Formats: sequence, C-alpha cells, structure tokens
Amino acid sequence: MIFSTRDNGELHQSEVGSPVFDAQYDVIVAGLGTAGSIALVTSARLGLKALGIDRMHCMGGMGTAGSVNGYYFGTKGGIYEEVDAQVAELIGTVYTRSSAYNVDAKKYKLEQMATADGAALAYESTVTAVYLEGKQVVGLQWIGPEGLQSASCKVVIDCTGDAEVCALAGCDTSFGRALDGRAQPFTSVKVFAAGDKVSWRNFDSGCTDQTDSRTLTESILHSHSQHLEETYGEGQRLLHLAPLLGIREGRLIHGEDTLSLAAYFEDALPEEPLFYAYADVDKHGRDHAFESQALQDWFVASNLGAVNISVPVSLGMMTPRGYEGLLAAGRCLAVDHDLSTCVRMNRDMQKSGEAAATATWLAIDEGVSLQEVPYEQLRDILQETGCYNPEQDRGYQFSYPGDRKPAEVIHWLSEPSAIREGLASDRPGVAIWSCRRLGQDVREHLLQWLEGLDDQLRRHSALALGLIGERAALPLLRQMIRERDHYALKDCRKNNQMRGYMAIYLAARLQDAEVVEDLIQLVTDPSEIDRPLYQPEESGSRGKTQKYNDVYYQFFSHATIGLLRIGEAHPHLREPIGQALRQAVGDMGYIQRITQLPFGTYEYSIADNIQSVIEQELVRWEAS
Ligand SMILES: Cc1cc2nc3c(=O)[nH]c(=O)nc-3n(C[C@H](O)[C@H](O)[C@H](O)COP(=O)(O)OP(=O)(O)OC[C@H]3O[C@@H](n4cnc5c(N)ncnc54)[C@H](O)[C@@H]3O)c2cc1C
Repeated sequence: MIFSTRDNGELHQSEVGSPVFDAQYDVIVAGLGTAGSIALVTSARLGLKALGIDRMHCMGGMGTAGSVNGYYFGTKGGIYEEVDAQVAELIGTVYTRSSAYNVDAKKYKLEQMATADGAALAYESTVTAVYLEGKQVVGLQWIGPEGLQSASCKVVIDCTGDAEVCALAGCDTSFGRALDGRAQPFTSVKVFAAGDKVSWRNFDSGCTDQTDSRTLTESILHSHSQHLEETYGEGQRLLHLAPLLGIREGRLIHGEDTLSLAAYFEDALPEEPLFYAYADVDKHGRDHAFESQALQDWFVASNLGAVNISVPVSLGMMTPRGYEGLLAAGRCLAVDHDLSTCVRMNRDMQKSGEAAATATWLAIDEGVSLQEVPYEQLRDILQETGCYNPEQDRGYQFSYPGDRKPAEVIHWLSEPSAIREGLASDRPGVAIWSCRRLGQDVREHLLQWLEGLDDQLRRHSALALGLIGERAALPLLRQMIRERDHYALKDCRKNNQMRGYMAIYLAARLQDAEVVEDLIQLVTDPSEIDRPLYQPEESGSRGKTQKYNDVYYQFFSHATIGLLRIGEAHPHLREPIGQALRQAVGDMGYIQRITQLPFGTYEYSIADNIQSVIEQELVRWEAS
C-alpha cells in the first residue's frame, strides 16, 4: 500500500505494506463545508457507514463558519432545501432572524441530521495523508485532538474546497489563471448587527494562495485588520469576523470530464448531467485584462458579464482523472479557472455534495466502481430529490438576483435585421456575441454597417468584426482608442465596459502593430491622467472614487497587457515595447494614479500586479 502525503508542499509517497487502520468506513467525507455537509447527510441517510472530518468545529463551511449565508443564483431542489426548511423552523426558538438562514441554526441542524442517521464526526481534524492501492484510494490519515488517526474506506469524497485530499493523493490539479496564476480575490467576512438582524459584509481583499502558508497567513492578517475601526455606527455593530476566510477559488481538479468556459461556448458539454449549476461569470475584482481570451471575449468584448449560464455537472467532473475510490465535490470541480467563476455558488455546491454521496452509495450498493455507476439509475434518484431537474437546463439568460425581475431567456440572433438593430442600440452585447457565433456568415453585413452613417452601429460593428478576427475593424478600433471612447455599454446590471478599452483588447487580439504607438503614449505620457474621462464628472461615481480610479486602471491595464500581446506576436517590436513598459511602471507613479489606497488593499494589489506581470513577461522575452 502507498502512503501519500505532502511534505513542505512536495508530494511524498512511500510503500507501507499492510497498515492496521483504527476504523473502517464505507465513505469518508473530508471537509464538512457547503458541499461536504450535504454529502455526509446524504451518505448517512442512504445507510452508508460514514465519517465526516473537518478542521473546523462545525458543519457548513463557508455557508456557516464563513458567514456567507446568502444564495446568489444556483439552482433549487435537493436535500439542501429540506435542511434549510428545517433550519427555518428553528427561527423564533433559540435562534434569531438573520439576513438569510441563521448560520448557527444551520450548523446545529446539519449535525443533528447527519448524526441521527449514524454518521460519525471528527472536528478539529485535518486530513494529512491518503492510502492508495495503485490509483485506488483506500483510506485516510488525519491529525486531530488524539494525534494521528487513520481509517480505511471504500470511497473518499474530497469536499475540502481546495482539493486537499486530491493533492495529497497526487492527482493533477490547477490553480488560478494562465497569465499570472492568480485566483479570484478573497475576502474577510464581517458579521454585524443591523437592527434586529444579523448581517454580513465583505469586500475583495486581494489575491492569496491558500496552498502557501506564509501568503495565507499574511492575507488573513491584512484582510481582518481592514474591518477594524475605532467605533461602529448604529446598524453596523461588529459581532465578529468570520473564522473561515472567504476563499472564492483554489485548486481545481483535472477530471475524467473537464469543462472549460471556451468549450461551454462551443456547446461541448458533458452528456450525463447530475445537476445544473447556474450563475453569471461572477468574476470578482477589476483586473479583467489579465484573463483568458475566452473570458474576455465574453466579459469585455461583448459586455455580457451579467448573463447567467446553466452548466451541466457530470460525475466525470467530480472524478479526479485516473483515480478510483475518490470523488471531489464543492468549488474544486473539474472546470477551468474561467468557468469556476460561476460553478461555485452555495446552492450548486450543496447539490454537488448530494450527487457525489448518491453516486458513492450506488457504487457500493451495486458492487461496482464509481466509473461504472449506471447513469440513468443515479440520475433518477437525484431527480426524485430535486437535485437533478432537466428544466434547469436554461441555457443563457439575463437574470436578476432574488426575484427582482423575471429572467429573460437569450436567443442568439441570426437574422441580419435583428443583429443590425441590436448593434445600433446601447445594449449590443447579444448582437456582438451572435456575430461571434455566426463568424464569417455575418461578415459582409458587418463590413457594410461599418461604412454607414449610424455612428453607434459603426462602432459596435467594429467590435463584432474584431471579435470574429476581421482586420477591417482596425481603423475604427484605433480611432476609438485615440479618442479614449468612454461610452459605457448598458447590457449589464454591473460591470458595463467602455468602448475605448474594449477596442484596445480587440486591437491586441488582432495583433495590430499599428496601434503600438498610441498604446505606448497612453501608458507613458504623464498628462494622460488629466484627460476628462478619468475625472469623476465624466466617468460617473463608479469610475472614480476619491481613492481608486477604475477608468484609468482599465485603460492602463488593457494597454499594458495589449502591448505584451502584440509584442508576443511581433518579436521585432519587443524592444520598444519593453522599454516603454519599463518606463511606464518603473516607479510607483502609475500606482498612485490608479489608487491612493495602501498596500494590502485589493486596489493596490491589482495596480501593483501590472508591474509584476510586465516584469515576468519581459524576462521571458529576454530569455527566449
Ligand atoms: C466571500 C464569499 C462570498 C460568497 N458569496 C456567495 C453568495 O452570496 N451566494 C452564493 O451562493 N455563494 C457565494 N459564495 C460562494 C460559495 O460560498 C462557495 O463557493 C462555497 O461555499 C464553497 O463550498 P465548498 O464546499 O467547496 O467549500 P467550503 O464551504 O469552504 O468547505 C470546505 C470545508 O473543508 C474544510 N477543510 C479544508 N481543508 C481541510 C482539511 N485538510 N482537512 C479537513 N477539513 C478541511 C474547511 O474547514 C471547510 O469546512 C461566496 C464565496 C465567498 C468566499
């Protein structure tokens, strides 16, 4: 048998013969958070001998200890709704009203439901190693109040959020985005009394790497301290800071099925869904320029950041590639960084726990491996609880949190007249993306509209042409850049993009060498910041606060990353581009133009990161 652990961050595997385990289980759920708590409740209810392990002192993870007790989209149905209904019944007894469900009532109810059905709990216990027979996981070791303990099991469900068990077992995982390895920003959640309600608030605190202890510790110290004030106003009395740090993204497993956002856009979807996740590409933070082409095509060039998508999640997306006896549930599912922005919401993560536990039960009950679990049978069980619901396969929708407004189903356009109408409007996003889907089929129309008299139609046609890779868009894109076109499109309820930096993104995507001079001027000319568009009266209060100038940040970051992309395609331009970029970020001046907030704040970190990424790329150019 192989004992597989991590030593100072490195995988360490050794042969250990036939160890004697302290106990045996059908299933061990590692991590009893949002996904894991429902996985344990489901396992126990289905009659499995189950152990749940968590390094904290309660069940529910981010949804209880993390105080994120709100539902932002996700899909309804499944065992979690039963839990929530029982939690709601406790309100008015010892538990008070809260902004969503009461977190302490939920902790209590989860424990009660799991243990009533015979599940064992190990709190204050951290998983430290995995036992393997070849690639089959057969047991776990953890450290808790009694020191090191171990147990054998038929299946481990890794619900640690960060795929800790998968990493201990040596499974392939990835972390963060391609350009700089950064994951979504994290948060320290503040819990406060607002009248007779307990409420919570958070703001992005920067980026961290929770797989690196020093970085993580510094992040905890910085983010918690940001909430500390001399006095707290009425309606905002501090109760506590959530003990579980608000981590949005971590390791993502490489699954038997792995779904990327780019594949989603091509309709290359898994065929055997167990449930649907549902949310927008909820990309926190402002540093869109650093994201992948797929994400920026959607979020920046089409301004569709607020469109919700339904993502089918299969058992293959919970199965680490090449491994048996191991499933992963929660925010580490096998999606890429881009898609993880929307496959992470509380409802959906709870569903992933239910689906993983039900698959485990079926495999054990049928005496087959997890990969051999009969799909129809599994789907039917999940359909009965409401976890799987084919009506939740809703494609693309403009949706609004809560029941603020009914969702609007998006039908991609194919009729030239409808596309023309969309492009001529202030909400051209659907038309732009429709052009991307149609590609060359719409090219002639776009070229014709580009030459017309309707300025809005011309500019939006240039954006659409840029997106389908047509260089005829370039003269107008360059003009929009030179004008610093600060017209903000209106498709989104949040995150509307401005045409000037949309044009920068697209010109760089087209590898336009002619735009280099203008972009160099944008990033190096000290008087750039004096332009009216960077002043609040022009950009509106969202564009510039006293301490952070988002409009300037967007133009500056898109221009610097754009220059790097163009230099990548044109090696002969690397020298002047490199010189200009070093000049642009050589001192702290550019950071101060972006933000007056101090080191340790999110805004400072994204400004600072421009310099780090430039340096990383220029060093790479110099070495090549
Ligand atoms: C700040 C913030 C705000 C959010 N807001 C919303 C919102 O409004 N609405 C919404 O629907 N979603 C929201 N989300 C998303 C959602 O809350 C999370 O994606 C989801 O809770 C993740 O669930 P999980 O089960 O993967 O992880 P978690 O709930 O974090 O559970 C992981 C559990 O594993 C345990 N663990 C970790 N490592 C080990 C180990 N080695 N050994 C033992 N135990 C371990 C942890 O203690 C924890 O209990 C938000 C997320 C954040 C961070």
